[in-house]
Amino acid sequence: MRIAVAKEVREGERRVALVPDIAAQLVNAGHDVWLQSGAGLKASFPDAAYAEAGVTIITDCAWLWHETDILLKVGVPIERCDHHEVERLRPGAVLIGFLNPMGNLAMVQQLASGQVTALSMEWIPRLSRAQSMDALSSQATVMGYKGALLAADALGKFLPMLTTAAGTVAPAKVLVIGAGVAGLMAIATARRLGAVVEAFDIRPAVREEVQSLGASFVGVELEEETAAEGGYAKDVSAASRQREQEVLHEHIQRADIVITTAQVPGKRAPLLVSEDMVAAMQPGSVIVDLAAEQGGNCAGTEPGKTIVQHGVTILGPCHLPSMMPAPASQMYAKNIMALLRHLMPDGELNLDFEDDITHGACVTHAGEIRHEPLRHALMANAEEVSR
Ligand code: NAD
Repeated sequence: MRIAVAKEVREGERRVALVPDIAAQLVNAGHDVWLQSGAGLKASFPDAAYAEAGVTIITDCAWLWHETDILLKVGVPIERCDHHEVERLRPGAVLIGFLNPMGNLAMVQQLASGQVTALSMEWIPRLSRAQSMDALSSQATVMGYKGALLAADALGKFLPMLTTAAGTVAPAKVLVIGAGVAGLMAIATARRLGAVVEAFDIRPAVREEVQSLGASFVGVELEEETAAEGGYAKDVSAASRQREQEVLHEHIQRADIVITTAQVPGKRAPLLVSEDMVAAMQPGSVIVDLAAEQGGNCAGTEPGKTIVQHGVTILGPCHLPSMMPAPASQMYAKNIMALLRHLMPDGELNLDFEDDITHGACVTHAGEIRHEPLRHALMANAEEVSR
């Protein structure tokens, strides 16, 4: 198969979909692997490293998009000055990347009418046998780690307890809100830096994981179920949110650092840290809002900016995995490789839609939009436009 790696052109994106050592595995398996020249440069992988791995470097981007069988990307293809990138894919081609289908309905329509088979990395089901393909988790791991480092850097204090001739320094107190993949990594990183860490989540099931990392778990008793299918959190009622905020208020005001990661799939991130809570923190404290791109968990968060409110520094970082583009790309490339092995068990593409992973990840195939909620969203969108 001809497998091509496109250059990411979206502002702030520094990752690349395949790294040289993973590309070499595809070459060794007999595939023709192409790289758009310069695609790996921002992640510190020059063309020469790919060429050494047996990859063909292509400078004509239009040709690469049009001639390939499988096009690999990290982020969503975009509208260029005179065309949308996906228009260049030929019928029957396969596109793989974080496609955010619900947020890119017009592109989904184009992919379907262009007879492109599109697979979205964020739609790979969180099954045990799909763990090696789970790019949401690999990238969340990077986010949690980097988020904790950004917080440590912004705090003008030591994180560990120090006993020195100049006296004893108390350790910093860190509160992590949301103990999913990113939150657990933030907890582990803050602990390794020596902080005293507490973690809060509305899903009581995470208590043991939090404690196993050496942090204490802050829970809240709610009168409703908080976990949905697949272990994700549910959007809780206003009363539960109120109860949750009362508990959080106590812990936030004692924290030097608050790292927020709370998310509910398909929804705006829940607002958990109010301005009153920020005002109750000690001046010099830091909040890092890792849900900034999904609307933010903190009322003061401005996505992509660092602001100071009531003496508290609030960071709303965007494109966090791109701040560590080499390891983020390495992990993403491994996820892609695992998916390709799954789709091509004998080296040829074999799309089995009875299989949960292929069915779950596939957005469009043979002119069809494959998921009911996506079809509904497109119909609602068309009705809105015709009104
Ligand atoms: P996520 O990014 O959707 O959310 C992050 C965390 O925020 C979650 O722990 C969630 O409970 C929490 N949260 C949501 N609303 C909250 C609120 N109001 N207050 C406090 N916390 C709130 O989560 P994720 O990292 O994608 O993980 C979601 C689930 O998927 C977890 O159960 C995780 O164990 C599971 N998972 C499974 C696999 C697998 O089986 N392959 C892989 C990764 C994750």
